[in-house]
Amino acid sequence: MSVVKTKKRWEAIYPKENPFKLPQAIAKGLKECVRSREHEQGKAGEPVKYLWIYIGDDGSAPQGETGTMSVEDWLNVLDESATLGVNTVIIEVRSDLSQNQGIWRICHWAQETHGMSVGLHIFGDRLAEDAVSEIRQLDLEKTRVYVDREYEDAFRYLEPLGIRLQVADSSDHTKQQHTCHLPESMTCVGTEGALYTCGLVLGNENYRLGNVFEVRLDDVMKDESLPHIIPEGIDRDKRRCDACPPLMEERLQGKSHCH
Ligand code: SF4
Repeated sequence: MSVVKTKKRWEAIYPKENPFKLPQAIAKGLKECVRSREHEQGKAGEPVKYLWIYIGDDGSAPQGETGTMSVEDWLNVLDESATLGVNTVIIEVRSDLSQNQGIWRICHWAQETHGMSVGLHIFGDRLAEDAVSEIRQLDLEKTRVYVDREYEDAFRYLEPLGIRLQVADSSDHTKQQHTCHLPESMTCVGTEGALYTCGLVLGNENYRLGNVFEVRLDDVMKDESLPHIIPEGIDRDKRRCDACPPLMEERLQGKSHCH
């Protein structure tokens, strides 16, 4: 497979060096966030409905050894998210699914313990047979596989097996550079447990909201001093918005995400 291709694609999208350096835009965004909250005075804020997580190479790796979260850590994140009202989790898988056994436990826990819908965003052009078998063990009514547009046809064979497909494409969104409020309804956790405003700014310290080992998700989402929107002007290339949970939900509902 395509593990090599998968890693290349991952590294192209998430280079180690942070490409985002727009502190003025961030300051502007923070002000907009506060203004937006002020306009909504007296109303409840956006409910947190989505969780977006980035699983490392090995979902069972002990914390600290490889820099990834353990499966138990991810289950704790799911538990905490469920108390916030999260009903959908999308998992970005950076490695071949068949090499990542812990992920299935995470998927089952989300569905069976918390009744969540689970999305798997696949980086690559195919799935190993054992991964397809594992997916078929999930509650398929609550499962969706997200794929890149160029591989959509290659994955069509999954549909007769009962596996729902959705293209993860966000290109129409990335052409528009408007302020994005979708992060207000979402928490986003990177491979090491760091929380970010959303996947677009994963790894960007200016949008780091804390770490799941140090803060409660509830406190982070209520903290209005933190950036819970992406301001106009932030570069949205490299398809980092692909598979964004609230964006994908709006696509399914046929809604626009513009505010
Ligand atoms: S659509 Fe893009 S900018 Fe908006 S929340 Fe999703 S990843 Fe972030």
